[in-house]
Amino acid sequence: MISVQNLTKYYGPTLAVDNVSFEIEKGTVVGFLGPNGAGKSTTVRIITCYLSPSSGSVTVDNNDIMTESLEIRKKIGYLPESAPLYPEMNVVDYIKFMREMRRGSTSPNGKRIKEVLDICGLGGVVGKRIGELSKGYRQRVGLAQALVHDPEILILDEPTVGLDPNQIIEIRNLIKELGREKTVILCSHILPEVEATCNRVLIISEGSIVADGTPDELQTSFEGKTKISVQIKGNIDTLDEKLLRLEGIERIVNSKPLGSDILEIDLEAVKDIDPRESIFNLCVENKSILMEMKREQTSLEDIFRKLTRKDM
Ligand code: ADP
Ligand code: MG
Repeated sequence: MISVQNLTKYYGPTLAVDNVSFEIEKGTVVGFLGPNGAGKSTTVRIITCYLSPSSGSVTVDNNDIMTESLEIRKKIGYLPESAPLYPEMNVVDYIKFMREMRRGSTSPNGKRIKEVLDICGLGGVVGKRIGELSKGYRQRVGLAQALVHDPEILILDEPTVGLDPNQIIEIRNLIKELGREKTVILCSHILPEVEATCNRVLIISEGSIVADGTPDELQTSFEGKTKISVQIKGNIDTLDEKLLRLEGIERIVNSKPLGSDILEIDLEAVKDIDPRESIFNLCVENKSILMEMKREQTSLEDIFRKLTRKDM
């Protein structure tokens, strides 16, 4: 549906997007995740034909951004970082106007406009001036204008910035709902937002894609070893050796007594083996008591920070 090949963008001397390539299949909800200044907005401005690239090519549904931008704009609904709303217009007129801009004034629209106002929860404010609305409602108007021409693709640039926690949840649910039938790109610097709504994550840092996969795949591929820490009571003499003989246990990172008959042990296990069951069984056989057992896994948060922080 969207194909980006070797996309590069300079603003004067600043390299904002550095030779980026990716493909997005129809029907996926892709999180475009990266810290501020990573190049997310620049990339989507190019995909939506609001900015031209320095080099590289982009096609949207086989239309080229350089030669077929009018076609592309009809197919894409775009909510920019700060939606350019007209504060003097009332909600319904603005939404009508945006539909006409993209589909022409002959396009029948009454039903779709009502539908979009409903989807975005704007029923109660249709006659209000956009300038009077709260930030949350203005964001919904932004979403409504992105949806009103019934595009196949939806590109949302930081749609929840500046909203309160309840509004954030509402907008995220709405995105999830929309993602059932549309191809969506969600730009965000907020990991939980992407985790909650997307089935694929592209992580961008300093203009380059540094990771690409489902949240699960990213978790698995970056997860090193599994760390397990246990506290075992009683019969602790040769416990370390016995633990080391279990399948999947690679090494003992740390083993220290807590009092006279409790041992606290940190273990490292190989990636795909979960040794917790055999640790439990060992304690039973050994007539020791398993006081505590914790497994630490690398979180997506850790991965994201590792990939996008210069100093790590
Ligand atoms: P993001 O959306 O991920 O925060 P941007 O695409 O907005 O990142 O910015 C990428 C880089 O390009 C940053 O270094 C930013 O300062 C720079 N940049 C963005 N827009 C402009 C502009 N209009 N003029 C000059 N530099 C810009
Ligand atoms: Mg941005």
